[in-house]
Amino acid sequence: MTNSLLILPGDGIGPEVMAEVRKIITWIEDKKGVSFDITEDLVGGAAIDEYGTSLSDDTLEKCQQADAVLLGAVGGPKWDDVDYAIRPEAGLLRIRKELDLFANLRPAIVFDALIDASTLKPDVIRGLDILIVRELTGGVYFGEPRGIEDLPNGEKRGFNTQTYTTSEIERVARVAFDLARKRDGRVCSAEKGNVMESGRLWREVVTALHERESFTDVELSHMYADNCAMQLLRNPHQFDVLVTDNLFGDILSDEAAMLTGSLGMLPSASLGAADPDTGKRKAMYEPVHGSAPDIAGQGKANPLATILSFAMALRYSYDQGAIADDLEQAVQNLLGKGIRTADIMADGCTTATTSDMGDALLSELDAIHQKAQAA
Ligand code: NAD
Repeated sequence: MTNSLLILPGDGIGPEVMAEVRKIITWIEDKKGVSFDITEDLVGGAAIDEYGTSLSDDTLEKCQQADAVLLGAVGGPKWDDVDYAIRPEAGLLRIRKELDLFANLRPAIVFDALIDASTLKPDVIRGLDILIVRELTGGVYFGEPRGIEDLPNGEKRGFNTQTYTTSEIERVARVAFDLARKRDGRVCSAEKGNVMESGRLWREVVTALHERESFTDVELSHMYADNCAMQLLRNPHQFDVLVTDNLFGDILSDEAAMLTGSLGMLPSASLGAADPDTGKRKAMYEPVHGSAPDIAGQGKANPLATILSFAMALRYSYDQGAIADDLEQAVQNLLGKGIRTADIMADGCTTATTSDMGDALLSELDAIHQKAQAA
């Protein structure tokens, strides 16, 4: 079975970090006998320069056809003044919208070797492994009516609408329950049902789905989103999978990310509905960081967020969870040896370039692979 993959390196450090993913893919093909059918194309500013738009129709069609899309990052000062409609970020948003990628997965994992990179006390975050599932295509960011209007008294009024339908809530909650089954079996759902009707409906629908679709092996709890923001800092270990809407998810996932302390380490996945015939979901994987124009082209970019995003693709799109485990273990081992790019540098560690990191990771993968073969 071919595993089709569309690579969109994008702008800034995107192409640099993607080159390291390519090394990993070649290693997997050679050593694990899993092959990928790879296509590469342009997105963001690079696509504006070449095609006059940040995502061409042809590239979008390739996104629709691929088992997974792996995106680097888009944007940079060169395109700051382009027309708003074709700005680099518009390409990214168009992929999310057209593929209907409604579930955004943001893991917050604290690697032992990087525990000091967090501003929180080591005891609070040691061994942390939370998965935030954020609804991505609905809620107040898209709800109508919206706008800014003039009032008769000369004031202006800005307004947005928070809306969620039963099916929108169910499909993202289902993803959360499914993922919890492969983890620690716990889902916490966050909303503001104490002050918002949409939050009350959210809680009702999640609770009903939990019963109706026999997710009762998964432990479900509910929390108001403001309390959740506090609990994430107070005792983050109480969470396994956290499911929430678009707005709260935007904020809570950034907060959870910062528990880990390092932008260059954070992967993400955005998933669509499962195909009724194949069970496969449309999917895009991307690091949380941007195109980092300040360090682009200098070999300073940390490629691990993009490599860990590819590990998520291995797990969720290619059913290669064991290789994903090895890749994540290799990252742990590499960090444990003190090999670091500047963004995660600490006393006594060795400075590595983007390419050094990729090479060192290959050595760690080799070591894990050889150990497994010898066993
Ligand atoms: P950024 O994430 O690009 O950079 C923030 C800081 O973190 C910079 O100092 C950068 O050098 C550093 N950094 C980021 N990723 C790193 C990595 N892998 N290794 C080492 N250091 C890293 O955010 P920004 O500076 O606010 O935005 C720069 C551009 O990226 C803008 O055009 C913005 O619109 C765009 N952006 C794109 C995405 C995306 O493609 N998903 C996300 C955020 C920002």
